[in-house]
Amino acid sequence: MQTIPYKTYLDESELPECWYNLRADMAKKPAPLLVPATGKPCTEADLAPVFCEELIRQELDDKTPLFKIPKQIRDFYRMFRPSPLVRAYFLEEALGTPAKIYYKFEGNNTSGSHKLNSAVAQAYYAKAQGLKGVTTETGAGQWGTALSMACAFFGLDCHVFMVKCSYEQKPFRREVMRTYGADVTPSPSMTTDVGRLINAEHPGTTGSLGCAISEAVESAVKTPGYRYVLGSVLNQVLLHQSIIGLEARAAFKKLGTKPDVIIGCAGGGSNLGGLIAPFMGEKLRGEADYRFVAVEPASCPSLTRGKYAYDYCDTGRICPLAKMYTIGADYIPSASHAGGLRFHGMSSTISELYDQGLMEAVSVKQTDVFAAAQQFARTEGILPAPESSHAIRAAIDEALKCKAEGREETILFGLTGTGYFDMTAYQAFNDGKMTDFVPSDADIAASLEKLPKVVGA
Ligand SMILES: *Cc1c(COP(=O)(O)O)cnc(C)c1O
Repeated sequence: MQTIPYKTYLDESELPECWYNLRADMAKKPAPLLVPATGKPCTEADLAPVFCEELIRQELDDKTPLFKIPKQIRDFYRMFRPSPLVRAYFLEEALGTPAKIYYKFEGNNTSGSHKLNSAVAQAYYAKAQGLKGVTTETGAGQWGTALSMACAFFGLDCHVFMVKCSYEQKPFRREVMRTYGADVTPSPSMTTDVGRLINAEHPGTTGSLGCAISEAVESAVKTPGYRYVLGSVLNQVLLHQSIIGLEARAAFKKLGTKPDVIIGCAGGGSNLGGLIAPFMGEKLRGEADYRFVAVEPASCPSLTRGKYAYDYCDTGRICPLAKMYTIGADYIPSASHAGGLRFHGMSSTISELYDQGLMEAVSVKQTDVFAAAQQFARTEGILPAPESSHAIRAAIDEALKCKAEGREETILFGLTGTGYFDMTAYQAFNDGKMTDFVPSDADIAASLEKLPKVVGA
């Protein structure tokens, strides 16, 4: 009966050979990173103590459309890619919608998320540069896990600063990282200047992502043979994640169809930026049109309620300034269960596209997200990550709108990962104990008052 298969796989030979750099097709480019002390755009030399050389080149290049994927990275990708494009027949049926729903599933690797796509690239370039190891931060734990896997593969040391509350609440995540050989430190720690300072100022603090970033950067800069790597937000990460969109577009071509609307959850913007990249490229070049929707948590609404401005990326204020939609670096989001969506800002590429009106954004509440997660688990069988479930929520809402309006439409959303390590969140939902937190306008305004004053920005 089904004319279209449930799952569409590309063959291995169809695994993309290049990543696609969306910035090359943007007439107005994302704003550059700035050196906090001078307010001048970051050069390769400014970034060299912090990041790997080749990754800096990718970060600063907004002209080259295609970057060849090195053979060793493609070989690693083959262990879990191409990832399937799935037609959600059972969800469609449960919703009674005329819409066709597809999802691109990135949870089929041990890290449980799309983050491995960039982790393997970053570890490869660190090794190629002859480095000894890398440092990073992790909030929910998916990025730290992905990076430990990649470092184990390439024989690099991996030092992860894990936000203290996650370190304590998610001991199994921590042990997965240690199994892959990573060294995991709860943040704020007493091993860095910034960690000691934050501990002194806020005794008993359970940490934040912004604070863990500061610690990881300091540790990299002060340890010979180490650099810092980041799992989202940066241009280089969006570049690596374009593999998701390139495969999705190739799979749709194979099916002889196209999505009308493309939906992704947005924390720092990397899975969304990667999923939409080739489709947005077609839109920018005037070859096709699509709707793009970013979905963020109502508890951390950078696109829908933030300001487009230069801001700090970390609490310690040692990283470059980025122009982005932000609710302020000092904003401490409530203890939402979607740990991967708690960053205060948004990738500068996504921010610029949104500012130009090329994409939409919505925010959704936690309990509505988990209701969508439950419906998805019961119909499609996959237990989704809380982060991914933001996209599920928006896709279901879109499909229900199609039903109400009697409209047939093809929806594509990114299913970024699985939720096996998030069972305390599911438990709260199942017990009816989950609450929604939405910051007041005054909360956000107070945080935005502390944005840095940048000359000419
Ligand atoms: C980290 C993470 C996200 C959010 O990060 P982006 O950079 O916005 O993609 C979404 N889903 C999962 C499963 C994650 O681990």
